[in-house]
Formats: sequence, structure tokens, C-alpha cells
Amino acid sequence: MRIFDSHAHYDDPRFESEFEGGRDRALSFVFEQGVERIVNIGANLESSRASIALAGRYGKIYAAVGIHPNDCGKTGTLGQEMAELEELARAPRVVAIGETGMDFHYDRPPKEVQKQWFCAQMELARSLGLPVVVHDREAHGICMQAVRDYPGVRGVFHSFSGSTEMAKELIRLGWMISFSGVVTFRNARRVAEAAESVPIECMMVETDCPYLAPHPLRGTLNHSGNLVYTIGALAALKGLSPEETAQITYHNACAFYGIEE
Ligand SMILES: [Zn+2]
Repeated sequence: MRIFDSHAHYDDPRFESEFEGGRDRALSFVFEQGVERIVNIGANLESSRASIALAGRYGKIYAAVGIHPNDCGKTGTLGQEMAELEELARAPRVVAIGETGMDFHYDRPPKEVQKQWFCAQMELARSLGLPVVVHDREAHGICMQAVRDYPGVRGVFHSFSGSTEMAKELIRLGWMISFSGVVTFRNARRVAEAAESVPIECMMVETDCPYLAPHPLRGTLNHSGNLVYTIGALAALKGLSPEETAQITYHNACAFYGIEE
């Protein structure tokens, strides 16, 4: 089984401190499990730089650069950070802008600020012709509005948590839906229902590791090898074999990020 992890954070210090043997060992371990491609996602300038560095070291890793909604304005002004982000986005092996979006779980920074930074990153993606990785937590309506406001931009909603109707609307607009370990959670029936409705051609799989370990490993340090659980759950929902599900989502992610299979 060849697996594509479309959204991971291997620059997170927990891989160095909590995985036996550290980050390099974690990565060689997941590569041994059939994980052939990983996009490491930036959440601020520092982790965007770290993502580019990881992509430079490992032929199976690519990078996305962006400012997470909860990190907006933490280390610089919008103008300063967008100028630097644009420079980072032009580095080799950068395949997307993200993660950006909105997170109203914590009203930090205020909604208006989050929106400004999201729109600036949508504009950057449009000018560079890169896809966008959207983080949408409890902000479905306003994230969908941004998608409609930038018809020239395509992207993915990562760790999708919206409704079936929202998934259908995104697909109609040419966007992709990425499912994480949440689809295996017993208390996330709505996400499973949305997954049931999404055509497999519009689907990617992700860990969001070190977060969101799937059932039955919930709460542990997540890694890309655990995608077998997520793939298994999606396969059951779609009436496909795990191998087919892995293969099709692998192909989808390569096409989405513009990566050679
Ligand atoms: Zn993430």
C-alpha cells in the first residue's frame, strides 16, 4: 500500500522528544510503513521555514508555507509576514500556501484579524498559482464565503468537520476535502456522513500529526503510519478496499499538489 499523508507537522518538537530515536527515526519508521509522500504544513514563518528544511532533507517530503489563524500577528505585522511568506513560497519543493483559514474555537486573535490574514494568503495563492490548505474550526460560514470570494483559487479543507451540504458545495467549486483520524472517532458521526457523500476522486487523507491520532490510538503521538486506520474507515464508508482507497487518495494528492507520482 502506497500512502500519501496530505497534512503533517513533523517539525513539531514532540517528534524529537517523544518518538523513540527522535524525528529522523520517526520518519524512517513511517517510510517503512508504505508512506511515500508527506506534505509538511507550516503554521507560522518559523514552522514554514522548518517545513522547507525537511523537504530539502527528505525526497518524500514536500512543504506548504502559511500562517495558521491562531498565529496571525504573533511575530510581525501583516505586511512584513506576507512579504516573507511570499519569498518562502518561491522556495523549491513548496507546493501550497497553508495552513491558513479561521479558527473561532478560540477568539484569538479577533475574527476580523483572522479574516484579514486569511484573505491575504488567498491572494498570495492566487498570484503564485498555488493551492491553499484551509483550517476551518467552527468557522464554516465565513470560510465558505472566502472560497466564493476567490473563484480563481483552489484548495483543500483539511481535517474536514463541516456538513454533507458544505462538502458538496466545496466539490462543486472544484475544491478537495481531506479527512483525518477524526473520521474514525465514535463521536464524529457527522464527519463520517460527510465522507460517505464525498466522491473518492475529491478526497485526500491526512494525519495532522502529531495531533488527531485515530481510534483506537486516540490521544497518543500520531504519525503517518497510523493512516491505515483512517484509510480503513474511509474504505468501509465508500465500499472500497483499503488498497484502492490508499491508491486513489495517493493519486488525488499528487494531482492536487502537483507532485509527480
Ligand atoms: Zn495542521
